[in-house]
Amino acid sequence: MARVEYHSNMRLARCSLFRRILFLAVLLAWAPPAARGEPRPVPTETAGPPPVILISVDTLRADHLSCYGYSRLRTPHIDSLARGGTLFAEIGSQAPITLPSHVSLFTSTYPFANGIRENAQVLPPGAVTLATVLAAQGYNTAAFIGGYSLERRYGLVQGFQTYDSPFDARVIKGALDLKRPASQVLEGAKHWLGQNSGRPFLLFVHLFDLHQPYDAPAAYRARAPQSEYDQELAYVDDSLGGFFEFLARSGLDRRALVVLFSDHGEGLGDHGENAHGYFIYNSTLHVPLILHWPQAEKNGNSKLENRNSKLEGPNSARVSSFEFRASSFNDRVEAPAGLIDVAPTVLSFLGFPAPVNFCGHSLLELAKGGNTPPRDVYSESSYAHGKFGWAALRSLRRGDYQYIDAPHPELYDLKHDPAELHNLLPGQAALAASYRERLAALVATYRSAPAAAGPTATAVVPGAAERLRSLGYLEITSPQAALDDSGIDPKDRLFEYKRYLLAGHLARTGKAEEAVAEFQAILADDPRNLPAYIELARSDVGLHRYLDGANQLKAALALDPHNIEAEELLGDIWLTVGDLERAAAEFHQLLTFAPQDYEAHFGLGLLAARRGQAAEADKHFRAALAANPLSAEAHYQLGLSLEAQGQKAEAVREFQASLRIDPQFQEARRELAKLTSTGH
Ligand SMILES: [Zn+2]
Repeated sequence: MARVEYHSNMRLARCSLFRRILFLAVLLAWAPPAARGEPRPVPTETAGPPPVILISVDTLRADHLSCYGYSRLRTPHIDSLARGGTLFAEIGSQAPITLPSHVSLFTSTYPFANGIRENAQVLPPGAVTLATVLAAQGYNTAAFIGGYSLERRYGLVQGFQTYDSPFDARVIKGALDLKRPASQVLEGAKHWLGQNSGRPFLLFVHLFDLHQPYDAPAAYRARAPQSEYDQELAYVDDSLGGFFEFLARSGLDRRALVVLFSDHGEGLGDHGENAHGYFIYNSTLHVPLILHWPQAEKNGNSKLENRNSKLEGPNSARVSSFEFRASSFNDRVEAPAGLIDVAPTVLSFLGFPAPVNFCGHSLLELAKGGNTPPRDVYSESSYAHGKFGWAALRSLRRGDYQYIDAPHPELYDLKHDPAELHNLLPGQAALAASYRERLAALVATYRSAPAAAGPTATAVVPGAAERLRSLGYLEITSPQAALDDSGIDPKDRLFEYKRYLLAGHLARTGKAEEAVAEFQAILADDPRNLPAYIELARSDVGLHRYLDGANQLKAALALDPHNIEAEELLGDIWLTVGDLERAAAEFHQLLTFAPQDYEAHFGLGLLAARRGQAAEADKHFRAALAANPLSAEAHYQLGLSLEAQGQKAEAVREFQASLRIDPQFQEARRELAKLTSTGH
């Protein structure tokens, strides 16, 4: 009994345990680089196709860069890239959420077609991405990741021979541990370049500094006193300045195709949205895209303005050495296009055919000033739909107009109203109707397109919810098979959403009583807010009010009988209070609609072991391990069960497996010592 209670309590605190498990598991697989010296650029003039450097500055609004017209902060280094390259003035993100946007870019497919519509989903094996295509062409491929949302487990790793995303290789204490500063990311990239730039390569660099929570070095506060967001941007720009300087010293600024973009913007209060993901306004969809062409593309009359400047710290206004221009390309493209077009552009530039399932179109002709027909730029957010059951949002940009399909649709003239303050509806109904038709046609066309992402996207990764909550997402949602634009318009529930965010913040910052009061107030106004019941239950559990928590979860399950999270938590609560019959009933119920659920199998394994049903316990612990091979607890419990059956050698193996994942798992160490000290 003691054992059951002890471990079920541990499971309720699985947040910290899971972190430890992952920390140690990944530590086993990821050895930190040996002592690193100063990275040395390797000046090379290797023949062959040009290398490609993709730089994703996560959460960067286009209109906060001085090369896009921002006046409150200068971003001289990114500007230098634009001056020497081609700036695309009107690029739309296909989804204002990190993983879906990057997946859309790398696979050149739409979120509704590839199935990745939320963070913490997994791009399944077999995906065709820019990285897999270039790797197949003989490119050396590497990625250096700044934020947890792109951690390797989410599948963007495919095609990359090196994928540096070491977020588990530490004890994660807070949201700041889910990101690492640009300097670290770029340092890793520089070291890799120092050893690998001799043959064609794809380097992907992901900088997460602009994503909340902010933590810019103190030196940048004076540089942009107006906002922490701009301070992070100043820091990122300086960091990129140092990186560009490195590229210049190694000659890569002339050899490589450099592509700088962002996956989405940031609300910063526009339309009442502070972060991103909830709405699909320009504040979160309009992103920068700058292509800097290799010097070989220059014509004879191109101008070299390489100043070879040095980075001089936070107040440096000098620029790095990107200011030569490939004059066969224009410096600016005004026509709207999407991030979905980036991968086809890169392949087209390199002369490689695009895979048939790429849905975007090369921007090369546009960059050369060619006359190309206007594009339909599609965007979506199914966040409010997946989370609260409210309407999904989708939009179509074409020419100057942006149409947002929602229960209360909107139409904006972005040329004259880029802030989208004046909805042209209901006045321009005919124009809006034509956009709606185009939108429906685009979805119909690409929904049936070949599956670019291979098999159907899988559900969310176990244990990811807690971490994403601390980045402000609160909770992962159930991926939806199809958009549903009926129901409640998210615009009409912004107030409720913000209260929900506030309550979640209170819960995460140790103010459980206040969080409970806020969640209760939300539910008093909207008894159908299912996530609020679950969050309230979590707060109740944190305050040891288990029966209150159970009642909230029953209310959630009344709204959605197949809610995995509610069912898991309810089973855990009964286990914790020792009501084993109810716990078993909930876990069995969970298996009827989630047959591989880790929590259900682990809980049923504990219950079977408690009843002395060893074979049944083994079966469930093995199923739990199939769902989560990194569970030190499941190995440990399986070891106990085998030990109780006299299978000592097998038990030893399980305890050893447990300790490989979590060397600080004292109970496992004790059992192992007990078994091995008796001479076996
Ligand atoms: Zn992002």
